[in-house]
Amino acid sequence: MTQDTVNLKTAMARTVRELYRAGLFGPSSGNASVRVGEDAVLITPQGLFKGGLQARDLVLVDLSGRVREGNGVPSRETPLHLAVYHACPDTGAVIHSHPPMATALGLYDLPVRAVTLEALTFLELPVVEFFPPGSVELAQNVALALRGAPAALMRNHGAVTRGRDLRHAADLTHALEATCRSLVLVRMLGGEPATIPGPFETAARGGADP
Ligand SMILES: [Zn+2]
Repeated sequence: MTQDTVNLKTAMARTVRELYRAGLFGPSSGNASVRVGEDAVLITPQGLFKGGLQARDLVLVDLSGRVREGNGVPSRETPLHLAVYHACPDTGAVIHSHPPMATALGLYDLPVRAVTLEALTFLELPVVEFFPPGSVELAQNVALALRGAPAALMRNHGAVTRGRDLRHAADLTHALEATCRSLVLVRMLGGEPATIPGPFETAARGGADP
């Protein structure tokens, strides 16, 4: 194992614990993967407590899902992760989370409004219909949805983000949940919310640190 892979495992375990602490992963739900070189993916295992995940728990699989390294069983959603890498070759990391606000929003067909700077990233937010967890249908439909967007909601289930690297995918997961929280609050407050005016949207989207 190269030093890069060791560092990647450490970073990934830390990120999974972070997402658990933030309430975006459940004790045994949510999964993450990161690309390792051209033909392998590091992915979270099934069945372990996400709040205590360690680098040694992670599993290395090839792009057909065969285990190359690790003692655990790869995530049940491994087909979903692999389908996203196949469909979106510029993807470096994929995170499937169970964020409460994003999951609630995914039960409805509501457009994302430009209510905050964070929301601008998710103005195109596809909602994938319900398919059983781990199914080929779920994998294919999520991959299709992510071709044109950094995130998608999975109806009655959760959300998925894809980023250029692990940090980017995790940041998108946090930002998606913050956006959905704002949208749910706006809906509860009622009335018509103020939105970022159209001419400013493009400029605001280009901001490095909104
Ligand atoms: Zn799930």
